[in-house]
Amino acid sequence: MHVPFLCPRGHRLVPGRVIVGWSPCVCPPCGGRARGLRGHRTYLCLDCKDEHVTTKCYLPHHVPAQGAAYRWP
Ligand SMILES: [Zn+2]
Ligand SMILES: [Zn+2]
Repeated sequence: MHVPFLCPRGHRLVPGRVIVGWSPCVCPPCGGRARGLRGHRTYLCLDCKDEHVTTKCYLPHHVPAQGAAYRWP
């Protein structure tokens, strides 16, 4: 697992200090990707969690779609 960035509060997101997940999404950065890859990898910072703050990073960054692009099955 390679996590190349810091959380917004300045913690290093290193293995063991971050929970990696997946969040299906159809926002513009996700919608342009291959079928099955439409979503964000999510990184939950455990250092923030220790401070009782929930900090979740999305990769690629989430961009809310304009208009009525959201349509869930
Ligand atoms: Zn953090
Ligand atoms: Zn999104």
